[in-house]
Amino acid sequence: MNEAEFAVVGAGLLGLSTAWALARRGHEVVVLEAAHVGHDGSGSKGTARIFRYGYDDPLYVGMAQEARALWLDLAAESGLELLEITGQLTFGDDLPLLTEALGACGAPCELLPAAEVARRYPGMVNVAEAVFEPDSGVLSADRCLQALRDTAGFTLLESAAVTAIRPNGERVQVTAGAVELSASVAVICAGPATSRLVRLAEIAEIADIPAQTPTLEQVVYLPLTSDLMPVVINRASPLLYALPVRRSSTIKVGLHGDAPPVDLDSTDMSDDPVLLERVLEAAAEMLPEWEGRVVGSERCLYDNSPDDDFIIDRVGRVVIGAGTSGHGFKFGPLLGERLADLATGVPVGDAFARFRMGRRPAS
Ligand SMILES: Cc1cc2nc3c(=O)[nH]c(=O)nc-3n(C[C@H](O)[C@H](O)[C@H](O)COP(=O)(O)OP(=O)(O)OC[C@H]3O[C@@H](n4cnc5c(N)ncnc54)[C@H](O)[C@@H]3O)c2cc1C
Repeated sequence: MNEAEFAVVGAGLLGLSTAWALARRGHEVVVLEAAHVGHDGSGSKGTARIFRYGYDDPLYVGMAQEARALWLDLAAESGLELLEITGQLTFGDDLPLLTEALGACGAPCELLPAAEVARRYPGMVNVAEAVFEPDSGVLSADRCLQALRDTAGFTLLESAAVTAIRPNGERVQVTAGAVELSASVAVICAGPATSRLVRLAEIAEIADIPAQTPTLEQVVYLPLTSDLMPVVINRASPLLYALPVRRSSTIKVGLHGDAPPVDLDSTDMSDDPVLLERVLEAAAEMLPEWEGRVVGSERCLYDNSPDDDFIIDRVGRVVIGAGTSGHGFKFGPLLGERLADLATGVPVGDAFARFRMGRRPAS
């Protein structure tokens, strides 16, 4: 039996961020990952994610502000360029709710009339009034994972699928194949597989984890034709997002909330022609001309909680970090800090009560 202070299950963004936070505090950490970092079935895979403050809700705006400082720390520690600021235009419904929440947190934003949007961003089609956020940008997702993995001193075991987690008095035993690990606390960050792992492991103390509904999203990559291209969000139903990926001269485009639930055991990662067509139709209504060329596509799993709020909690010797609902990347290192707080017994503050397992989603 191997010993560690902390065992972290899952080496996606949340697991690696937690390990980074714990290791930075001088703790000994072992991370167990069923496959490998950034693998095709992980929700953290790929090259790009939106970083923005723009939420209707001051809780999330404040969290994004805290997360940004940590991303900058990680970039400095790793020497890798992680966040590229591009600015963001948000079109669509309820823009005053957005500007109110941003204003309440002192986050800069500007309401631009349609003519000003057209002047600043020539080529954008069907322009309308928009909120401009100067501090939004694009996180290089793969580099973020690399920075977390390589910068902190923790042990990473890949191809180590955890099958049992047994709290046992002062310790918790974690089993992954031939690996038997005894830790003071286990932190489970297994993405959409988290609640299933909790059930499989029969962790008696955890009776009330919110349901997780994985969906398989369809993403399309279009050619990037302008250096001015900002992050674009259209708050329609479903919500369109587009972000410039300058490293590959592409625009990543998707529809948030358009994909059906999937079974984790039989996930087919090939393109869905119907979803793909819907993304292209929505893109054609907003984005600069891309000459009809699709340069790439990908599927990626969302780990949806019932209310889109994260699941961040501790019961006994087990900490849970999951339910990121398709918007967790920007908060990665902050969620890692709070999960590390829970693991080490540091209070996480009242705001995080919203993420507890026993919450009842508003009806
Ligand atoms: C298409 C798409 C676009 C997105 N866009 C954005 C965006 O623009 N901005 C934003 O902020 N967020 C975005 N997100 C969300 C963000 O990427 C996720 O919230 C985040 O990456 C989830 O990280 P995670 O660590 O919780 O899960 P994952 O990355 O899925 O990691 C979980 C890990 O646990 C491992 N695991 C599972 N079971 C076991 C086991 N039994 N034993 C050991 N390991 C196990 C898995 O193999 C996996 O590697 C997007 C997500 C997708 C899919």
